[in-house]
Amino acid sequence: MTGLEDLYREIILDHYRSPRNRGELPVPPAHRVEGFNPLCGDEVVLYVELDDGTLSDIRITGQGCSISQSSASLMSAAVKGKSISKVRGLIRTFKAMMSIHETCLGEDSEGASSNGASSDKAAVDLEALGELAALQGVVKFPVRIKCATLSWNALAQSLDEIGAG
Ligand code: ZN
Repeated sequence: MTGLEDLYREIILDHYRSPRNRGELPVPPAHRVEGFNPLCGDEVVLYVELDDGTLSDIRITGQGCSISQSSASLMSAAVKGKSISKVRGLIRTFKAMMSIHETCLGEDSEGASSNGASSDKAAVDLEALGELAALQGVVKFPVRIKCATLSWNALAQSLDEIGAG
C-alpha cells in the first residue's frame, strides 16, 4: 500500500501547492458561503454559480492547513460542471468515506474488532471519487477529518441556501 499512499500524498500536496479554481466570483449571480474550522483555524470561502441544474462555476479562497485547502481544491475540480444531483451524490459519498472510517477507528480503540464488524461498512464507491480518494488517509487522524470535510459542508450549505434540489 506504500505506493498508493505515496500517490495519495502527492495528489494532496499538488492540490495544496497549486489549488484549482482559486479566486472569487461576482455576487450575485454567484452565491457566497464561508466555512470555518475552529479546531485547526482553517477558513474557506466558496463562490458557487448554478445554471440550469448544473454547478456551472466554483471558486474558492481561504487559508489553512494542507488538508483543508487541498480538499477544497479537489472538491472544486470534482464538482465543477456537474449536475446538482451528481454534486449532492459526491457530497454524500465523500462524507460517508470520512464518517465510516471514523466509526471504525472508534471500534478499534475499544478493542472490539474481533466480531467481523467491518463487514457492516456501507460500500463507498472509491472509484466514483477519483482523486478524492486520496483524502481517505486523513481518517487515520480523526482530528483532521473536520479539515477535510470543511469545504464539503460549506458546499452543501450553499446548495441548501440557494434551494437547489
Ligand atoms: Zn486543518
